[in-house]
Amino acid sequence: MPSAQTNAVNTINKTRQTMELNDKAPADAGDAIRDSARNILRVTPLGGLGDIGKNMMVVEYDEDMVLIDAGSMFPVEETPGIRLMIPDLAYVLDNRERLRAVLLTHGHEDHIGALPFLLEFGIEVPIYGSDLTIGIVESKLTDRDYQLFESVRQLRTVDTETVLQLGAFEAEFFQVNHSFPSSLGISLNTPLGRVIHTGDFKFDENPVLGRPIDVNRLETWGREGILLLMADSTNAEEDLATSSEIAIEDKLQELFEEAAGRIFFSTFASNTARVQQVLNLAERNGRQVGLVGSSMYRYTENAVKLRYVDLDWNNLLSDQDIDKGEPDRICVLITGSQGEELSALNRLSLDNHRFHQVRSDDTVIISATPIPGNEKNYYNMVNRLFRRGANVIYADLADIHVSGHGSLRENARMLDLLSPRFFLPVHGEYRHLELNRRAAVEHGMPEQDVLILEDGGCLEFGHWNRDFEPGDGDALLSRCLVREGEPVSAERIVVDGSVVSDDHGILNERRLLRDGGMLVCVVNYSARAWEMRGSPVLVSRGALYREEQRDFHNLARQAVAKRFAAMAGNPGTKASDIERDLVRVLRRICRDELGRNPFVVVKLAADNDVSDPI
Ligand SMILES: [Zn+2]
Ligand SMILES: [Zn+2]
Repeated sequence: MPSAQTNAVNTINKTRQTMELNDKAPADAGDAIRDSARNILRVTPLGGLGDIGKNMMVVEYDEDMVLIDAGSMFPVEETPGIRLMIPDLAYVLDNRERLRAVLLTHGHEDHIGALPFLLEFGIEVPIYGSDLTIGIVESKLTDRDYQLFESVRQLRTVDTETVLQLGAFEAEFFQVNHSFPSSLGISLNTPLGRVIHTGDFKFDENPVLGRPIDVNRLETWGREGILLLMADSTNAEEDLATSSEIAIEDKLQELFEEAAGRIFFSTFASNTARVQQVLNLAERNGRQVGLVGSSMYRYTENAVKLRYVDLDWNNLLSDQDIDKGEPDRICVLITGSQGEELSALNRLSLDNHRFHQVRSDDTVIISATPIPGNEKNYYNMVNRLFRRGANVIYADLADIHVSGHGSLRENARMLDLLSPRFFLPVHGEYRHLELNRRAAVEHGMPEQDVLILEDGGCLEFGHWNRDFEPGDGDALLSRCLVREGEPVSAERIVVDGSVVSDDHGILNERRLLRDGGMLVCVVNYSARAWEMRGSPVLVSRGALYREEQRDFHNLARQAVAKRFAAMAGNPGTKASDIERDLVRVLRRICRDELGRNPFVVVKLAADNDVSDPI
């Protein structure tokens, strides 16, 4: 059992013991836990607890199931060449008849990116989200990649007034602040008590767009009693409260004043508030705005349509204007703040953009920090932009970016508002979850009520050793028990070209090829006489340096011929046995002679038949 799960078990066992000691269970209940499958709340993350990305939380109450978010994740070091990763959907698909709805907290890819796959697998339940979120989902489903026009009818817009009855769940939505305006937290009222999922959040009393987080409502719910809080752990390494978006405005104004030529401003296209800030700054500083990059168009168009952003579409600069206009009158909002390979700003840095080139009097403002793991792409792009002569201002140099996630201090405030019976940190790698857990304990929550769970693990909440009495108020919460439920499969699923697969063998092969190159050896032989024809053919890619090739080939050919002669024709020896053995021989030579481990493939071809796939 992986250590994380062991930890969860330990925590839960501790919980169980403490609960039994504290609870003075009725004498006739004895020590035995009466196991009931009824009136159980189950919480099972399929993604986002252990990774930052591909968020998906399954919440079940008996026969009813809802999903919170359905996100994707970009490739990481261990997954070379793939397009995306999504959560393991098997559990959801196996239980699809119990699924009542998908509830979306907001429209970032790590929360909506897996939706097209759920829909392609035939999930037909309604999908709820805020207007801006649903707008983004709609344009995603209908774009060139997915063309899921039929599925659009499953989309439903909700707001903070909406109440949905989804089987045993009563779902409501509350305003939170995040780098995506109209982000919503989710409340699920269940017969056992209220469950709150914050989604990605921070407290911003003065947001550029939309309303501040709904503190009053949280306070009211807190007074009524909360069974379980699940809260964002992304910034659990930060203690100081995250700043408001407004905080960066003065610095940006300074940069706009200083810029002599064109301004290229790059941020996440989905950060609509930042986009609005740039539009305001441009107007104030006498600059007209142009958009470059398809996602900048897509997100901004959606935000303008829903009146989040104030922009006269007819007033936008054309590509020609950006090229030929007066430089100090131009401000370009451009995609690529992470140095993504095909993004517009990255293409500019590589000087292979279709329309535009960087000039020495341009100012490039990158209003984003690199996503952890993406530092190389980000800084390589910054280097190239400097090399082209631009004045590059990025987040290390000036306060031009604030995080969309709250720090530990804001999590503590959330705990104060809600006083939940149980707390489960979500949205983070393991260290973030653990730091959030520790902070909650330091903040005064009983250790056994703060739970750690990773993807695929399951927590069950219920009253299995005593009579269940719905509507029991405070006692219902204080007497609720927690235990580990049946884990489910939560492999990373890869999307690679047109395939969606959990076959990680291919990624393993790719990593080996990437790190060591490949050596192929083909041995032609006569099947009848078991004799080698000619000498073995060796082909290598990325495995042998020029100066090594001749000696290595000689040595390898001799060793292969010798081993083949020793094994061939022995009674019971099959060609596949010899192939396996020759792989071992070649690997050993590589290790001894080259000090490296290329990926070795050996193929025996009978009677010069080399047509079989290698
Ligand atoms: Zn987000
Ligand atoms: Zn997120």
